[in-house]
Amino acid sequence: MASGMNSQEARDIAYHLHSYTNAARHLEVGPLVIERGEGPYVFDNGGNRYFEAMAGLWSVGLGFNEQRLVDAATRQMKALPFYHSFSHKSHGPVIDLAEKLISIAPVPMSKIYFTNSGSEANDTVVKLLWYRSNALGQPQRKKIISRLRGYHGVTVASASLTGLPNNHRSFDLPIANVLHTMAPHFGSEGKEGESEEEFATRCAEELEALIQREGPDTIAAFIAEPVMGAGGVIVPPRTYWEKIQAVLKRHDILLVADEVICAFGRTGKMFACETYGIEPDILVMSKQITSSYFPLSAFMINERVFEPIAQESDRIGVLGHGFTASGHPVGAAVALENIAIIEERDLVRNAAETGAYMQDRLNALAGHPLVVEARGIGLIGALELKPGEIPGQRGALMNRIMQDKGVISRNMTDAMAFCPPLIVSRAQIDEMMGVVTESLDILQQQMPA
Ligand code: PMP
Repeated sequence: MASGMNSQEARDIAYHLHSYTNAARHLEVGPLVIERGEGPYVFDNGGNRYFEAMAGLWSVGLGFNEQRLVDAATRQMKALPFYHSFSHKSHGPVIDLAEKLISIAPVPMSKIYFTNSGSEANDTVVKLLWYRSNALGQPQRKKIISRLRGYHGVTVASASLTGLPNNHRSFDLPIANVLHTMAPHFGSEGKEGESEEEFATRCAEELEALIQREGPDTIAAFIAEPVMGAGGVIVPPRTYWEKIQAVLKRHDILLVADEVICAFGRTGKMFACETYGIEPDILVMSKQITSSYFPLSAFMINERVFEPIAQESDRIGVLGHGFTASGHPVGAAVALENIAIIEERDLVRNAAETGAYMQDRLNALAGHPLVVEARGIGLIGALELKPGEIPGQRGALMNRIMQDKGVISRNMTDAMAFCPPLIVSRAQIDEMMGVVTESLDILQQQMPA
């Protein structure tokens, strides 16, 4: 770290309150200041290079210096830097992007709503679900079921949907009408002698029991990530999604697929709904929609969701919701170019093929004395480390060791996540896995199993 009162580090400590950071500890340790990027690598202000094994925040699909995205943003900035979508207004990029997203949707969808972050998208989904229930003359249908360890954001409603203690503790959350069912993690929740399929059946039975207890006509929707990300990269057990969807269908409950991490190729198909045969009524996207070069999120709704909302807004006179930057033209232009590049370069196939290779390499470490489980699909995976005396302690140390060796990962408690950019090559996976393997051995010396 550079020293001196005017260093970037000192000024960051002085003036910047960080997200997802221990604010008191930050005063002592300071930041890692990143200056530039090149493909899947970033460089800090001391010139050190890091392989970004998290693609930033599961999001920089095209890597850190895609000129075509810069050009698309520049062209749009010059042509029309801002316009909105209130009061029947529109513009070319948002129309083109809405059409494009509907055309690649994994199931027939009707409309796209634009927001600026995953949290905002999910908050809006909650509000529109309530609005829809009122429109249908079912004011009691307001509860939303999500899952423990699920991640849906940090705004008041989306943080409530999130099933992680740190997002509720001391924030006075969750709000009313949010229910959580079990996390589909066979590794930690599976019982002695239970098969993966039996475990999936139990997950569906628990969901069904919750619905029965609460009253099926009080439940508006079930929301879930096809593959859980921030909860520790949890891949659903075999048959999970068909069993869950059967329960929802039986009780006529809408399904919201939160594909904020998964969409645009992450699991080896354009949408994880295709990977798992999921047929959502609402599908939420963000992050890789622009490779995070511009804040943008969106969700698709089908006719069943759209129709009552349209009628209610007609009754009231307006749909009383919208963000200044909803469907920002620069974000829309970047998203269109980003999706075009993903298609042209066949990056979904790269996620499937290079992803399968990454999973093989992760699985090869499953026998390491410090590794409890390797899991993942496509270009998203995790190594679950044996917990130390304090949960998360070993994961945090592993994180530091890898970062010192030039690989940025992220520990979710003791699960080390790997979610490299979609453009990653086999050679780069080899390089990353070399550091992971070496780091595990150093960890074993410093904090033996
Ligand atoms: N949903 C999922 C599945 C996510 O992974 C995230 C972010 N990690 C969000 C929602 C929230 O997105 P944002 O941080 O853009 O608000």
